[in-house]
Amino acid sequence: KTRVYTFGNKKADGNSSMRNLLGGKGANLAEMSAIGIPVPPGFTITTEVCTEYNLLGKDEVIQLIKREVELAVAKIEKTMNTKFGDAKNPLLLSVRSGARVSMPGMMDTVLNLGLNDDVVEGLAKKTKNERFAWDSYRRFVQMYGGVVMGVKAINKEDIDPFEEIIENLKEKRGITLDTEFTVQDLKDLVFDFKKSIYRRIGKEFPSDPWDQLWLAVMAVFDSWNGKRAVYYRNMHGYPADWGTAVNVQAMVFGNMGENSGTGVCFTRDAGSGENLFNGEYLINAQGEDVVAGVRTPQQITKIGSQRWAELAQITEKERKNSYPSLEEVMPEIFKELNGYQQILEKHYRDMQDMEFTIQEGKLWILQTRNGKRTGAAMVKIAIDLLSQGLISEEEALLRIEPNKLDELLHPIFDPAALKKAHVIAQGLPASPGAATGQLVFFAEDASKFKYSILTRIETSPEDLEGMNLAKGILTARGGMTSHAAVVARGMGKCCVSGAGALKINYKTKTMWVEGKEYHEGDWISINGSTGNIIEGKVATVEPELTGEFAKIMELSDKYSSMKVRTNADTPQDAKVARNFGATGIGLTRTEHMFFEVDRIKAMREMILADTVKGRKQALAKLLPMQREDFEGIFEAMEGLPVTIRLLDPPLHEFVPHQLATLRELADEMHVSLESVKIKVADLEEFNPMLGHRGCRLGNTYPEITEMQTRAIIEAALNLKQRGIETKPEIMVPLVGTFDEFVAQETIIRDTAEAIFKERKDKIEYFVGTMIEIPRAALMADKIAKRADFFSFGTNDLTQMTFGYSRDDAGKFLPIYLEQGILKHDPFEVLDQEGVGQLVTMGTQRGRSTNPKLKVGICGEHGGEPSSVEFCYNNGLDYVSCSPFRVPIARVASAQAAI
Ligand code: PEP
Ligand code: MG
Repeated sequence: KTRVYTFGNKKADGNSSMRNLLGGKGANLAEMSAIGIPVPPGFTITTEVCTEYNLLGKDEVIQLIKREVELAVAKIEKTMNTKFGDAKNPLLLSVRSGARVSMPGMMDTVLNLGLNDDVVEGLAKKTKNERFAWDSYRRFVQMYGGVVMGVKAINKEDIDPFEEIIENLKEKRGITLDTEFTVQDLKDLVFDFKKSIYRRIGKEFPSDPWDQLWLAVMAVFDSWNGKRAVYYRNMHGYPADWGTAVNVQAMVFGNMGENSGTGVCFTRDAGSGENLFNGEYLINAQGEDVVAGVRTPQQITKIGSQRWAELAQITEKERKNSYPSLEEVMPEIFKELNGYQQILEKHYRDMQDMEFTIQEGKLWILQTRNGKRTGAAMVKIAIDLLSQGLISEEEALLRIEPNKLDELLHPIFDPAALKKAHVIAQGLPASPGAATGQLVFFAEDASKFKYSILTRIETSPEDLEGMNLAKGILTARGGMTSHAAVVARGMGKCCVSGAGALKINYKTKTMWVEGKEYHEGDWISINGSTGNIIEGKVATVEPELTGEFAKIMELSDKYSSMKVRTNADTPQDAKVARNFGATGIGLTRTEHMFFEVDRIKAMREMILADTVKGRKQALAKLLPMQREDFEGIFEAMEGLPVTIRLLDPPLHEFVPHQLATLRELADEMHVSLESVKIKVADLEEFNPMLGHRGCRLGNTYPEITEMQTRAIIEAALNLKQRGIETKPEIMVPLVGTFDEFVAQETIIRDTAEAIFKERKDKIEYFVGTMIEIPRAALMADKIAKRADFFSFGTNDLTQMTFGYSRDDAGKFLPIYLEQGILKHDPFEVLDQEGVGQLVTMGTQRGRSTNPKLKVGICGEHGGEPSSVEFCYNNGLDYVSCSPFRVPIARVASAQAAI
């Protein structure tokens, strides 16, 4: 089999369909080369080799690929007309990772590989630029030392060993900038770097270019199992066996003088989705200079540059002199680049994120990929591409990552509150949204507060975990393509970058802005759509779901046949969900209604009563309150089906445990404190989740079922009188046997009939059950003979099928996920392979005896896209999920149908 795929010179062995094998980057390089984009020539070692490496180890893998790699290097040499390791005419290489999905900043990169003490002299001669050659060598030893040889700061507080050497030299020489180093300084740095590496790890820096190459390739494979990569993989649920490919490519240099440069660009705006070519570049720089946020990058287009200058409060004259656009500085190159971005977007039919380098007036495209974008941009771009005729309706829907819609559903700053807000500084609108939180300056501190704003001079991949925990990200340095900006957009997290007015002091955990000091824990607000940084908290309002968002929703409904309902316990939730397009309620958990002050008292009386009479008296107090609740919910969902579930949790959840409350309760019930204590102790269970709960309550205390049924039916009749249509569905929880269900069903129907007689009026209603105990799924054919509907309670079904306690799984699940014993948290993503069988079986068996059986799901999985797809494939009539997941489920349901 082929393990090495070459590309370059407008030819390639691979193409973009080979992502899994070549990784995203490798597949794209091959494809680009084949369609005539000038990519520097190179080759890709496949992801399969990464897996082989993990199995076989270094030596055997090198044997497997040696010949192919040698041939591929020879091919690059031919295209570039240079030679690897040749001091007179050297070829330098870059080595990068590339998994099948892009993992920004996760994997390590080595540039300038192939330099050594001889080659550097040759490079100096050839480019007539000794400084450039030694600076490249200096960068190479530093990068290689860190990435491949593992010489880096051990603790967060420690400074990088190479940076330390640089700082010391600067101090000695009395200079502050890298550019002030003389050639001799750079030579000294290389020497000192190598010495430091030897001192730290006892290994010589490899001078043979081939040794350098092999070690670098192996280091990329190792980085797949590095801490950051594993964290990112787990966060996104990417399995360990995907592996990463290695891309080796000829180096081209953006730092060869004033007619060289490098940049990053997007075919559309990654924040708003606006159809506007944009990006940033730097003259005489290497790639990492643009994203590292150390120099202020300039804009690619003139329009972008002018907009940027406005935000940065820079005059047009200043802009033109100090920060001109590429369009103005190198019009020919800009024209060529603009041509390629159009070709690439048309070819990939999606917004592209491209990297380019200009080497002495020649443009090279280093890479392109589908650009990361915010939820808002995702929606706008999909609809825009659709109206441009580049993609079909189905494709537009498939372009939506359902979970990302969440970003659009959350509050934005209240325009009225914003008018009064005190803006203390302005940065770049790097990732839209509104975030209010308490200042923290270190990623590790992000979890200190419920709402934190991670504020850094600049962020790095080490900060990923903290960025994920924070509500928003604020940086003092860095442009729209800085690490913070790119990662934040990917996470859908609000970010303001490059706010130069912030003077951050990590030591004291403070920040100075315009003469005022802010400390860790102080509240600030950031507006990722405008770049404003605001003192204190700012109120938020609900977003409007119109425009492109509405269009996506409309399309979803056109393509999906499965309905989306909501889990809602209050009229308020029901209204929100209805706004989001819910077509009914799939689960109302009645227990939540009992926690209000007045009700909990009556509830406790009921629970602690000794006799049926006592219980009935307490229930009589609850009846009007419940009836009112149901009227509210029915009214909010007028005309739509509403499933109300009878009381489910174990009773002890409702009784107090503090002495004072127990005493109060005893007084109120006119009994002794002691007797209340005994009762409460009596309710204790070893395994409450497997104990006296669900329909076991209704069967042992039938008066509870009677009361709840009465509340539901009377509420419906009351609304009918007011001319409001209702469709009640009464649901029995935790059924395991046929007789359990029938016992409850009988009480419900008898109660309803009695009420119809009393009121001389009737309504249509249905009685069904949750399927959440494995036995119920097995007995579904029998149960369905009496049930009108089933609703899979996949929370309990998962709990009971796995035997994992819902309340205790947090102790071991994270470790299982880390070790790869589980691929996903089964309480989040439905275990289709195992628990799914019970869903399939329960549905089929149920419908075999009752073809009219309505089947849905109301566990948390009802709003999780892959589980929604599973439900669709199993012919469920609806999924039900929390209100804010309704739009997500609607799109997921349409995607399943496409
Ligand atoms: C379930 O078990 O899936 C369910 C919806 O019920 P609850 O989460 O209330 O137990
Ligand atoms: Mg349940």
